Amino acid sequence: MSGYDQSLWLKTCQEHVESRPLTGDLTVDLAVIGGGYTGCSAALTAAQAGASVCLLEAQEIGHGGSGRNVGLANAGLWLPPEDIRQHLGREAGDRLIDLLAAAPGDVFDLIENHDINCEPVRNGTLHCAHSAKGLRDLQARHTQLSATGAPVELLSASQTEQRTGSATFQGALFDPRAGTIQPLSYVRGLARAAAEAGACIATQNPVQSIQHNDGVWTLKTDHGTVRAKSVIQATNAYHQWLQASVPEYVPVYYFQFSTAPLSDNLRASILSGGEGCWDTGLIMTSFRMDAEGRLILGAMGDLGQAGRAAHTAWIRRKLSELFPQLADQRLIEGWHGRIAMTSDHIPKITQIGPGALSVHGYSGRGIGPGTVFGRLAAESLLRDDPSLLPVPAVPEYHESWTGLRRAYFETGAALTHFVKARF
Ligand SMILES: Cc1cc2nc3c(=O)[nH]c(=O)nc-3n(C[C@H](O)[C@H](O)[C@H](O)COP(=O)(O)OP(=O)(O)OC[C@H]3O[C@@H](n4cnc5c(N)ncnc54)[C@H](O)[C@@H]3O)c2cc1C
Repeated sequence: MSGYDQSLWLKTCQEHVESRPLTGDLTVDLAVIGGGYTGCSAALTAAQAGASVCLLEAQEIGHGGSGRNVGLANAGLWLPPEDIRQHLGREAGDRLIDLLAAAPGDVFDLIENHDINCEPVRNGTLHCAHSAKGLRDLQARHTQLSATGAPVELLSASQTEQRTGSATFQGALFDPRAGTIQPLSYVRGLARAAAEAGACIATQNPVQSIQHNDGVWTLKTDHGTVRAKSVIQATNAYHQWLQASVPEYVPVYYFQFSTAPLSDNLRASILSGGEGCWDTGLIMTSFRMDAEGRLILGAMGDLGQAGRAAHTAWIRRKLSELFPQLADQRLIEGWHGRIAMTSDHIPKITQIGPGALSVHGYSGRGIGPGTVFGRLAAESLLRDDPSLLPVPAVPEYHESWTGLRRAYFETGAALTHFVKARF
């Protein structure tokens, strides 16, 4: 319950991809495990380069984070540039900052070039200050981002109110490079483009085992076998069925609810410029509109657990706090997804064997980064050039106390929402 099947994105998805059933044996240059942004971008890149490629998805394209997220196609990572340099060193840090600064452009170009029907709106995003401390954080981000040449703008409380329609924020950081998309339609459009370029897209095909012998990888599913020189594992927070090379991360849940399409009057009073928003709260909140004028409000929390009642009560209260004019609106679709968080919030590429990479850990910022990491992982393997990777590949990656940290985030979110829904 409360997952993919209940999502607004499934209800309004405009893209469809023909999935080829995989039976028997297939030999390709590149096998991709997982049909999210990373896997579909990798498959599209490889097929366009003339390589033979087969993408194996356990369920449907977009079943993971790519079909459940908020749809904010942002530039960069969660981390401000100085933190990225601190973790990766100056040279590697600057390269990643530049690559991800261009990521929204890459996403919107792909949408245009492949005519992907995914409600693209490139009117920027607003990172909204929920407190004085949040505003100081945005001021520091503004300084750091401006120094990298990013065209970001710090807005006053009244400018933020004018743009969002909510009087609750102390200011906002506007990033005109970013925008919003219908996330499931985008990933399905990528898969459709990959299929049109010649990739085999096989859904309902969980990879059960993967082995390397005599320079060839063998991937087994219930329906057949794929042999390949190179492999990209792009299963991120939804890795399942495959016992090998399990990505390590801290699972953090995030849920969203959407209203019915709002009347023209209400619609004109909220986000009239079409920006997507999130706030500086530790237990963060996001809000945006879809193409039909539904408001979609999200926050950290797992709707499948005991905290569901607290999260649901809180989101109703939050809706009327942010937008008193929406106090009577019913919340209709409610769904959640799992985010793969790494301790340093930097995505990881693991070399799981010769010619095989696993990519994961976007830490809640995967639309642009997943598109870029998938493309570069494919290019790096096809050209046998590790220097093309966006971050250096490591032989293995471990996270500690993942269960405990998951409980910390979920309990924190549930308690915060429980208290705030009442007082
Ligand atoms: C609720 C939520 C909100 C978010 N909001 C944003 C946002 O606004 N902006 C943003 O940039 N990012 C956001 N993110 C992050 C972003 O959605 C993810 O980082 C991104 O979707 C990861 O893409 P992926 O392709 O790596 O993995 P996924 O999209 O998770 O795809 C992995 C796929 O692998 C498949 N799989 C697993 N095991 C196997 C197997 N054995 N065989 C075959 N297939 C397998 C799964 O079924 C799944 O479809 C959000 C994430 C969530 C969950």
